[in-house]
Amino acid sequence: MKNRFSELFHSKGVNYYSDDLPLQAALAFFGFEGDSDLSGLGRFVSEEFIEALDYIDHYGKPVLKPWSLTGERIDYVRLSPEHRYILDRLQRFGLISKMVNGSESLFYHFVTGYVVSDSGIFCTFTLTAQTAYALQKYADEGTRRSFLPKFSDPEEPWYGATFYTEIQGGSDLGANKTVARERDDGFLISGPDKYFASNAGIADGAVVTARIEGSKDGAKGISTFFVPALRRDGSRNYTIRRLKDKLGTVAVPTGEVEFDDAEAFLLGSREYGIYVAMEILSISRIDDAIAAVGIARKAFWEACIYSTERYAFGKRISDHELLARDMVEMEAELEAAMVVSLMAAREFDRASGSMPPYDERYNLSRLLASLAKNVAAETSAMVTRYSMEIAGGIGFLEEFPMAKFHRDSIVTSIWEGTSNIQALEMLETIVRKRADISLIKRMKELIASLKDRALASDLEKETTLLFERIGRVLKSGEGEFHSKTILMEIGELVATVLMFSIADRSAPGSEIFRSSAKVYYARHFRMAEDYRKLVLGSGSIISWMSDAAASAKK
Ligand SMILES: Cc1cc2nc3c(=O)[nH]c(=O)nc-3n(C[C@H](O)[C@H](O)[C@H](O)COP(=O)(O)OP(=O)(O)OC[C@H]3O[C@@H](n4cnc5c(N)ncnc54)[C@H](O)[C@@H]3O)c2cc1C
Repeated sequence: MKNRFSELFHSKGVNYYSDDLPLQAALAFFGFEGDSDLSGLGRFVSEEFIEALDYIDHYGKPVLKPWSLTGERIDYVRLSPEHRYILDRLQRFGLISKMVNGSESLFYHFVTGYVVSDSGIFCTFTLTAQTAYALQKYADEGTRRSFLPKFSDPEEPWYGATFYTEIQGGSDLGANKTVARERDDGFLISGPDKYFASNAGIADGAVVTARIEGSKDGAKGISTFFVPALRRDGSRNYTIRRLKDKLGTVAVPTGEVEFDDAEAFLLGSREYGIYVAMEILSISRIDDAIAAVGIARKAFWEACIYSTERYAFGKRISDHELLARDMVEMEAELEAAMVVSLMAAREFDRASGSMPPYDERYNLSRLLASLAKNVAAETSAMVTRYSMEIAGGIGFLEEFPMAKFHRDSIVTSIWEGTSNIQALEMLETIVRKRADISLIKRMKELIASLKDRALASDLEKETTLLFERIGRVLKSGEGEFHSKTILMEIGELVATVLMFSIADRSAPGSEIFRSSAKVYYARHFRMAEDYRKLVLGSGSIISWMSDAAASAKK
């Protein structure tokens, strides 16, 4: 029987990796060379994955089966066959194993997040990458040797999780009440309320925050542990109370977990426990940002194709000036969020050798992670929402995959630290770590090599003015009040500089940035004298999507 899913989803058949010209230009700028698995992944996502995910989302969500036939507690999270198939296929593209066995960098893993771009399924891989990273960097030799190789097992690779949030607080990890007691043969963890535990039931082990008995109050008293799902004797190490009923990200089970003397292995030193927890969280902040942009790209790809096929008032809707403007502006915003997220990924990867209390490079990567998460989450919510509107009433229907993109995008500003928490995190990296100094230096180096000298001089001034203004705000003691605006403004500056820098390269796709950078600059810094002409003359920054879809159909 013929598969007719392409009649429900227009961009089926495009390659979400190699056909994505702005992505290719940005990756070339960041010095990344992908492999054939990434092209395979790009095709797999459009050919099979979206269809399977659409099915899982509507009809096949994970279900908790707490009890066995004989009445024993088993906490089995049952996945549909489609779900198991998808996890297996994604593992085979090396999303985790390449990072664990060192054949590819952490940056490679981040790039896969853009291509997969499903905040539910990719959450499973984010949490696994974080857990493997934590074991690799912070476990003692014995713990690392016992558990890490399992994450790159070719037949039955392990999955990970991070259980930090408790019922009394997610933003405020210092409020954690879970307790760790030290015994001769390791730690035992107890606590009834790990309240948002994604990947529960899939994970074979989790990174868990807890307070060692007798430690300080607040965040400084937090330590970080690896907790396997099974004890040494094979019995369950923790209990899953229930799974949450969520608006989106249906494909990742999010549970509530209880610990009662769970066997645990300390990661890093007690002194720097909260640092370790936050470093691991940076991986998910960056993955989250990159996946958020990836979701936006898929939704927008779909909307663009739709706009060339739908007619209103006698012509294609894409030919109506007002909609043409919307689409060019959306593309510019999407590319901006993408380049900031990729820069955060690149810098985190490069800084990952740094140990607590960390060096300048790490502090810069932390600042970039907050900028990226914020700009990507905002952009993703906007682009996925407006893509629905471009598809008119049809965009709002759950009968097609479009609506799911928006549902999945909304969580990206909440989990791994809300937008307010990102703003406060940015303040800390600037006020206490002076990461602004490294960022300004990096921006000025890029600006200095721009070909358009008049533009370079304007951007140099904008950079100086922005950071002088931030300095005055911080001095006046109003930093917290203005922090979210500052977060957005720094993100916009970084995006603009990166976009013009990419436009100056001669890699395929960089010409797209020449127009989108101008549109973005006009919107956020200096309105162009003839903005209408600029926007309407920039149609090529979106036409590559319908071109790719047309050749995929041939
Ligand atoms: C689908 C889903 C999956 C999740 N999976 C996991 C997981 O696997 N592991 C895990 O550990 N957690 C997970 N979480 C939890 C998530 O990280 C937290 O929900 C999030 O960090 C916010 O914490 P909270 O819900 O306790 O909200 P709160 O911390 O109570 O915050 C409530 C509101 O207050 C604001 N706020 C709090 N403090 C401040 C402040 N100082 N200044 C200004 N505003 C402030 C916040 O921005 C927010 O708007 C998940 C959440 C969701 C929705």
